[in-house]
Amino acid sequence: MSVRPFLRCVDEVIGKEPLSRHKKALFVFHDQLNLDAFPAWVREEKPLLMFVESRAKGMELPHHAVKAVYILSAMRHAALEWHAQGFPVRYHSTTGHFDDGVRELLEESSDTEIVWMEPSEWDSRERFRRLREELESPEGDGVSSEGTNPSSRHVHVIPNGFFFADPAEWKDQIRPGFRMEHFYRAMRKHTGYLMDGAEPMGGEWNYDKENRKKIPARLPIPPRTQFEPDAITLEVAKMVQAYFPDSFGYEHLFGGELRSFPFGVTREQALEHLDEFLEQRLDLFGPYEDALKSGEDILFHSVLSVYLNNGLLHPREVCEKALERFDGGHARLESVEGFVRQILGWREFIRIYYEAMMPHIRSANHFGFERGLPALYWTGQTDMHCLKESVRPVLEMAYSHHIQRLMILSNFSNLTETDPRELNRWFHLAYADAYEWVELPNVLGMSTFADGGVLASKPYVSGGNYINKMSDYCRSCTYDVKQKTGEGACPFNVLYWNFVDRQRETYNQSGRVNFMVSMFDKKPEEEQQAIREEAERFISELRRLAPCARADE
Ligand code: SF4
Repeated sequence: MSVRPFLRCVDEVIGKEPLSRHKKALFVFHDQLNLDAFPAWVREEKPLLMFVESRAKGMELPHHAVKAVYILSAMRHAALEWHAQGFPVRYHSTTGHFDDGVRELLEESSDTEIVWMEPSEWDSRERFRRLREELESPEGDGVSSEGTNPSSRHVHVIPNGFFFADPAEWKDQIRPGFRMEHFYRAMRKHTGYLMDGAEPMGGEWNYDKENRKKIPARLPIPPRTQFEPDAITLEVAKMVQAYFPDSFGYEHLFGGELRSFPFGVTREQALEHLDEFLEQRLDLFGPYEDALKSGEDILFHSVLSVYLNNGLLHPREVCEKALERFDGGHARLESVEGFVRQILGWREFIRIYYEAMMPHIRSANHFGFERGLPALYWTGQTDMHCLKESVRPVLEMAYSHHIQRLMILSNFSNLTETDPRELNRWFHLAYADAYEWVELPNVLGMSTFADGGVLASKPYVSGGNYINKMSDYCRSCTYDVKQKTGEGACPFNVLYWNFVDRQRETYNQSGRVNFMVSMFDKKPEEEQQAIREEAERFISELRRLAPCARADE
């Protein structure tokens, strides 16, 4: 049997199953790695499962090396696991896109019915919509210019089974003022999660007020399991090293021997991480959800988004296992409610927002910022300790938790008047859990206010005080968080007030934050002037001292 470069582990087990032997083939996307999300007939009929690794998709952005290895290794493991369960499997790699790979495979058989599940991302959906038209067209050749099929082919598209809500039922409601909380309460009633009859368990829908504690210095933080990379992951890593040398984080992954990997790559490992979170971290997830601590990259967060977003875990099983911990008295209500809200509320809501706002949301830039992303997002090199601590885990493992993403990295990007689309691109390529449907709403809608207030009711920016209140970062910083202006003052302080001053039109339109403009206006004239001048100097120096864009952009 011939073995393809970097695909030995797959080829030696699966071989090259001919399509012509199968009446029906199901194409599985890289983020649909869970057969339980597919209709029951898939397990009963066992159609040929087709996987495609797309070099063109990988080249669209210099994705983090850890992200590339994770996605491809998980896909290869799923293919092998399902093959072991008795499914015929065809594993294909192409220099083109996913749809090109499917076209290449279909050339082998003129009458195999093709099935796929509706993809989550806009571009894949557009590509597969065109592919379907092409395959079903009686005039077309049904395959390609060299295809063998002169007539139309039967195509069957399954609705996406990886979410709770159907966007078609909700997306017309997406508009300024329709907040996640409205949707979340409806979903709680619909699923019955944390409900006591028609009322929310404990009498409140949302326990966010109790979820804003700073981590006590001596509180032990449970360690998180790292997995030893197996032969498949090591083979994928060699491929990423050979084919994607421009990937972000490349030096961190390939700078030494690859002894441990931050994410599981099989369903079994994903379930192990789920159980570990439920047993060791869920109970304190709520109170310390917004906390930050030097040297602690995970705290009480679940890090399950990597598995939810490529399908290894299903949101329903994750929520229901968390509810079992509450029912068994092992996790407090405010933690379980906060965790369920992230998945049943926020994750579902932003997917609906994505469906409602695409594709025009991609160019959103409410404040009209045009500056490039500061170099420190690529290097982690800065003397601002909070930023250094937030970029470091991204460089090392393509991950940082949500409050680092929102209140440090996005906050600083906004305050330094960075083009939100640049930040959006960085989040997309840098994070292992980033797929456009999830990261774009979080960045352009939530954290940068680029949509002008459709998703969020106010810009999420702050000065140093907030960071100091929620973290121990400022203690180890060269800047003084208490100092408002002048040499050695925390840059977040002048940048924040400068932002309020310069964006006063937006602030004046929001009942939640318009008082900040009055607070700025009440400052002495000299202080206002110092804020404007120091912020301007900082923002231009930031780019002058370190050019913002990577050489390959
Ligand atoms: Fe960040 Fe300012 Fe605190 Fe330094 S002093 S860690 S720059 S908030």
